[in-house]
Amino acid sequence: MSTLRFKALESSMNRTPRAVEAPSEKISDYYGKNVFDRKAMAEYMPSDLYKEVVNAIDQGNRVERKLMNHVASAMKAWAIEKKVTHYTHWFQPLTGTTAEKHDAFFEPLSDNDVIERFDGSQLAQQEPDASSLPSGGIRNTFEARGYTAWDPSSPAFVIGKLLCIPTIYISYTGEALDYKTPLLKALSAVDQAAVDVCQYFDKKVTKVNATLGWEQEYFLVDKALYAARPDLALTGRTVFGHSPAKGQELSDHYFGSIPERAHAFMNELEIECMKLGIPVKTRHNEVAPNQFEFAPIFEEANLAVDHNQLFMDIMDKVSKKHNFEVLLHEKPFANVNGSGKHNNWSLSTNTGVNLLSPGKNPKSNLRFLTFLVNTIKAVYDYEKLVRASFATAGNEHRLGANEAPPAIISVFIGRELTKMLDTLVSKVKDDKALTPEEKTQLKMNIGKIPEILLDNTDRNRTSPFAFTGNKFELRAVGSSANCSSAMTILNAIVAKQLKKFKQDVDKLINAGTKKDDAILRVLKKYTTASKNIRFEGNGYGEEWVKEAAKRGLSNMRTTPEALHELGSKQTVELFESLNIMTERETLARQEIAFDLYANLIRIEARILGDLAENHILPCVFKYQNELIKNVQGLKEILTAAEFKDAASVQLTIVKDISKHAKVVRETVHVMIEERKRINKLESAQEKATEYCNTIKPMFDKIRYSVDKLELLVDDEVWPLPKYRELLFTH
Ligand code: ADP
Ligand code: MG
Repeated sequence: MSTLRFKALESSMNRTPRAVEAPSEKISDYYGKNVFDRKAMAEYMPSDLYKEVVNAIDQGNRVERKLMNHVASAMKAWAIEKKVTHYTHWFQPLTGTTAEKHDAFFEPLSDNDVIERFDGSQLAQQEPDASSLPSGGIRNTFEARGYTAWDPSSPAFVIGKLLCIPTIYISYTGEALDYKTPLLKALSAVDQAAVDVCQYFDKKVTKVNATLGWEQEYFLVDKALYAARPDLALTGRTVFGHSPAKGQELSDHYFGSIPERAHAFMNELEIECMKLGIPVKTRHNEVAPNQFEFAPIFEEANLAVDHNQLFMDIMDKVSKKHNFEVLLHEKPFANVNGSGKHNNWSLSTNTGVNLLSPGKNPKSNLRFLTFLVNTIKAVYDYEKLVRASFATAGNEHRLGANEAPPAIISVFIGRELTKMLDTLVSKVKDDKALTPEEKTQLKMNIGKIPEILLDNTDRNRTSPFAFTGNKFELRAVGSSANCSSAMTILNAIVAKQLKKFKQDVDKLINAGTKKDDAILRVLKKYTTASKNIRFEGNGYGEEWVKEAAKRGLSNMRTTPEALHELGSKQTVELFESLNIMTERETLARQEIAFDLYANLIRIEARILGDLAENHILPCVFKYQNELIKNVQGLKEILTAAEFKDAASVQLTIVKDISKHAKVVRETVHVMIEERKRINKLESAQEKATEYCNTIKPMFDKIRYSVDKLELLVDDEVWPLPKYRELLFTH
């Protein structure tokens, strides 16, 4: 066996679970202990100032500079008590990870003296020279400065000796260069639009928060095995590997008893999360071997996104302590399930109402229908953009490939709610008010919604956007994604739709229609108009592909195709009209997405070539030489007739090896030449498209032959840890 593979296996087999101890027996003793939350703020600030800050945050208003000085000094006092020495503005550039640049708290005085200093100005704004972060052409290098600015709606936290302050990140000229800025604007747009619509039902509603509950899937792989797979280490996925004899077909991993080492890792991860106020609640084995899931309790969407980013970072750090590597890639292994990140989404009011949850009376049920139908209509109008919101190189292996969920966007609401919408359409008249009897009847129907939803057992696992009783579940987001992309787009399209709804209803009311009739009529119109996006059947079937085409729904199987929509006229108009992003910002983001795609495929192509030529072919030829020697030996000692029989197997293998080696070598070289051509292309979109359509198919061709070679040659000489070792070692 190759030394590296052998050593990796040996060390992975000799591991013992790491002992993990919680700081205290009760979670409540340490939950949120490293967060500068409201409790901490109240403790470290005069109460009148504290109230002022909290008010500003709750109303979404600016925190005044004078007040910021007080917050900063409270934060500093709190942090220093925790022996914190440095602080950082913690932000989310368009690389997909989080960024931090640490500064020490101290400031020199005269004569070798220093003091700890951190005031409102340092809290408010920093100027990292982040010219190497992606800007999509927005930021010229001569004005490389970017600004980070405090996001008071997400509390600061401490990791080790570092105080992390969540911030937005914008260019010198004010354009968004991160995920958070447009997200906050989309959340504010949906807040305003939803509050306006809520006024039809309840005047006390003054604030609506989007809520997000993410479910994070991931794989665990032993650190040594990971290190022996350069493809995993550099791209997060295996570019080669024959399927093991056993995969996930026995479903014996899903919800199974959690392996001991993985369990210890989860325990420590949970403790770290609890200290940071991340409300992780559920953990279990997933479908594929060595695949798992974590899910917290849902939170306000901006906070939930920050917590997910933080969670992925802590996962990585904690896993290393347990000699694991966490794989967040959407498809680390071929032929077993990939990983996603379900985004459970709803809207919740300051009066404590979940707007996607039916209430106790007809009025609240009408409100429920209003938000349900408007969400469906928004997804219908912007189905292409929704598809684009989770289009990445990694996710391409799931969507539209042979895996959940499909690339066609549809909405599932279940049989009973479908019937309810059918009733609405058939009973409500476009031009006449309902008679009191008709109204009573319709009300009775609508009144049944809570019962219907109590028995919400018909769940469709194949739908990319499914209503699950009191929330929608967006299932197509990739496991490694920053949820902001999907959340910005979803909340923006719903905001846009709710504004339109308000206009349409008000128009009818102003023309003399009663409010309830007006609402019902507009809902009827939207329900009919968006009918084609609703689908209750099997989203994975070929039938659906045909049916969806008939309905005029898009089916964009590749990422570059889907990314096209990020820069469409409709998208630009959406973001501009809601003051979320200017055209320049929108187009820059699209450019970055194309660039990122091309870069990732290029890296995969390089590692594929390297592994094939420098690792696999040499080993394969070594083994082939042994066979040749064997054949030559046989020839010496056997008669011609005996030899023919005795050497036939070896000769077949020798020839098969040559056949596959030739495909590998030749395709790798064609691929290199093609890359040279593609790299010269000017436009990021063209580059991405060519990488997708020309280079990626070659991966499959090379892989097919390499995986065949894996089966042909002696297990002892194979250089890379095999799938059975990666997937079944824990
Ligand atoms: P499952 O969908 O697997 O049956 P649950 O229904 O318990 O599981 O919820 C899954 C996720 O949905 C959890 O993270 C949960 O916090 C979240 N969730 C529940 N209610 C809401 C809501 N109103 N808004 C956003 N997320 C929610
Ligand atoms: Mg779920």
